[in-house]
This record gives sequence, structure tokens and C-alpha cells, in this order.
Amino acid sequence: MKNCAKNNLSSADTRHDNTIFTTGLCNSNCIMCPYTKKFRLNSKLEPLSVLVHHAEQIETNAKYICITGGEPTLLRDDFLKLVEHLKNHFPAAMLHILTNGRTFAYKGFLNDFRKVRPYRTLLGIPLHADNAELHDYISQASGSFDETLKGLDNLYKAGEHIEIRIVTSKLNYINLPALANLIAQRYAYCQHVFIMGLEMMGNAMINRDKVWCSYDELWPFVREAADILIMNGIEAELYNYPLCIVEHRLQPLYRRSITPSKIEFMSECSACYRKPECGGFFRATKIMPDIKVKPYLNF
Ligand code: SF4
Repeated sequence: MKNCAKNNLSSADTRHDNTIFTTGLCNSNCIMCPYTKKFRLNSKLEPLSVLVHHAEQIETNAKYICITGGEPTLLRDDFLKLVEHLKNHFPAAMLHILTNGRTFAYKGFLNDFRKVRPYRTLLGIPLHADNAELHDYISQASGSFDETLKGLDNLYKAGEHIEIRIVTSKLNYINLPALANLIAQRYAYCQHVFIMGLEMMGNAMINRDKVWCSYDELWPFVREAADILIMNGIEAELYNYPLCIVEHRLQPLYRRSITPSKIEFMSECSACYRKPECGGFFRATKIMPDIKVKPYLNF
């Protein structure tokens, strides 16, 4: 399941896992998706009655609900009805929707969405590169860059709360500063930008030779991208990385983001006094060959 780790519009928290999984289907097929293409193709759109039943299991005073997929907006009218149901039944909840944003390129859909969504709604939308060629290669969906940007533009101009998600890989790490500049120029008032490490499952594991790169190679570009965002007044957050690769001055951006049941550590970590603050590794990411850690040691 995609990372739904928010309980308000500005800070990470994984305690409230009220997640509604709408479908495995998606109109993209990202090369580093933690699901496989086969899983997606064998998925179905969950009926509204099932989704509402799922919502009924959530406490009515819930502070946070996440809608995820696949691509939830593929449910079209049922997606809108689900959003409206959540608005009517969970008045205290912030609604977090993980979407590739492409459906919001259609203004009619956006207008319908704006009529039914709770005021406290945050849309998490991935952007893979500053150009169509690379973004579409990563999403494996021709035209997705243009549609995503149009969706983001429409949402941004309408004043919706948007969070841009950048998943870092061998394919886009050199492009990260350019992508940060695009975001700073075009979406300066977005809620925040997540820069996220890979979860090596599904497509990501199948395509590991194409997508995995060591943290040592990756980090100078993550650092530069984070600095560009910060200098432009954009709140950046660092997800799914081990704490010891993050230099001290950027550690305020660090989030312990991996679901606790999925966290693993390297054997060297047992000596590290900052282990309680560290998000560690996804189980499947830990087995990648070139992972090095630098334990914080008391001398
Ligand atoms: S040594 Fe291990 S526990 Fe310590 S910061 Fe690094 S990854 Fe985290």
C-alpha cells in the first residue's frame, strides 16, 4: 500500500492508519511501483458498498483518513460518492488522497470533486522528473507528464492543498535539482514536497537493475533538491531513508516514515544510539547489496 503517513496538513504521523484501498487498477504503471503490473491488471474497482462498509469500521471521531490505490479516481462517480460519504460521516477527519493527479486535468471532474470534498483534504501527487520524456518513462504511460502537470495546475489554481511526492531512483536522481526548480517556480505555495526512498517490492524489485542506486550516489542530488526547495520557502520532508545518510543540518526534514511493522535494521544498527529516531529500512530494501550504515556511537 502506498505510504499514507499524514494526519494533518503539515506533519507526518503513522499512528492513524485509517486507509481505504479503492482499487489496484491504475492508468500508469510506474517502473518502481511497489505493486507488480500483474497485480494491477488482475485488480478490480471496489464497489462503493464495499468501500462504505470499510469506512464504517473507522471511528467516527477519526482525525485522519487516507484513500489510496492503484488510482482511486478511476472509480469516477463512486470515488466522488466515497469522498462525500467521508465528508458527511467524519467531520473531524483530514482526508488524504493519494492519486497520480491525471484525472484532475479534466476541469469537470475537478469541479465535481470540489463540491463534495471536505475542506481539510490533501492530495498527494507524484512527479518523477522535470520533463515528459523521463517522467513518462518512469510512469510507463505516454502523456502522463502533461496530464499530471495539467492536473496539478488545475488543483493549484483552484487553491486545493497539494503535496508533491518525488520517489528517488537511479532513473531520476540526476534530475532531482531540475525537478525541485520546476516545483519552486510553478507550485511555490504547495503544502509540501516529499522526497522519498524506494520500497523495493513489486515493479521496483522486478526492475531493480534499472531503479536501484546506492545512497552514496543518490544523496548529493537529494541534498541539492532539498536545498532548492528550502531556499524557495517550500517545506520539504525526507521519507524512507536511514537517518545516518542525512547530514545534521537537514535532519529537521527527516521523517520516521516506514510503517513500524515493516521496519528492519542492519546488524550494525544495534550499536547505534539514534536507532529509536531512525526510520530504518523496508524489509525488501534492506537486502540491496550496497547499503552502508554509519552507526552513531557513544565513545
Ligand atoms: S546506523 Fe542504523 S539505526 Fe543508526 S541511523 Fe543508521 S540506519 Fe539508523
